[in-house]
Amino acid sequence: MLERLLEVNQIAHSGKGDPSLIDQLNEGLPPAYDYGLAVCFDDCGGYLEIKLTRGRSDVIYMSGPPMGCDPTGISKFGGKVENVVARLKRSLQALAASPITKDIHPLLSGILENYDQPEIAAQVKRKLEELDTKAVCRSEDIHPLYLEKCVQEYMVKDALRRYSSIPGKKQKGASLLSDNRDCSVCGSQGKLVYGNFSRLKCYNIDKRGMISGGFDYGKTVANFPVCLECIGNVSAGFTFAYTKENLTFSLCGERYLLLPTVTVKDGEMREFVLETIQREKNRSTLKSDILKHITNSEKELLQAAARPG
Ligand SMILES: [Zn+2]
Repeated sequence: MLERLLEVNQIAHSGKGDPSLIDQLNEGLPPAYDYGLAVCFDDCGGYLEIKLTRGRSDVIYMSGPPMGCDPTGISKFGGKVENVVARLKRSLQALAASPITKDIHPLLSGILENYDQPEIAAQVKRKLEELDTKAVCRSEDIHPLYLEKCVQEYMVKDALRRYSSIPGKKQKGASLLSDNRDCSVCGSQGKLVYGNFSRLKCYNIDKRGMISGGFDYGKTVANFPVCLECIGNVSAGFTFAYTKENLTFSLCGERYLLLPTVTVKDGEMREFVLETIQREKNRSTLKSDILKHITNSEKELLQAAARPG
């Protein structure tokens, strides 16, 4: 599966120059997130108001661990408002504690001083009650923290820290980095590898009985070593396919990822296969002929392309 994502990323982003790790790790937001609420502060950290904003294509977002925080100071709405407001505060605290963001430390300190959690939660709830998402009175005059270069750099550093260390209580923070090893995704040799790459939740490395090498978190660099290039490329492929919903479809209430096996080498033909699958992906149904169409997509597409006229 990860190899398929590498391939999807290569086709989807070919000819677009060398992406930065920030761009590759950026999860962005799914298309359904077409509006948001911004908790606004002035340049000195004084609290201003809650503003309704448009969903933004330039959002730099990466999800953090469930009990932690999201590193760029924005969070998705889910569960209780109080929890989201508390999660945002943890993001501010994490940013304020990092030397990477020292240029905006005075601003972050001011915001934290004025971050009245119960009051902000109450105002967010009030705003949600009066919310008319179709209204056009949305504010564009905000400057989100994620636009700061240092916040974006913090996001990358935080992700690589998580991918290279043991979470949880026991052995917390112990290194899962190892040099001069083979990458289990691309097969490159002699690479610096990370043992806890966890963008996709399709596997686990911390449950007893699930790992052929035996349970030992410290050995994940041997069980599932991933190089930095693959971390970036798989992440970007997954964002393109799943988060941006280019290669997903729904069946019986579940959302599935549809990853083509593209065997043709010709660049133009590979793009044709991918683009056509993107267009066709919503044709999912229980009808067997359509299911066959989905699973056998590349073969059918190539046959169609070969037909004269
Ligand atoms: Zn690799």
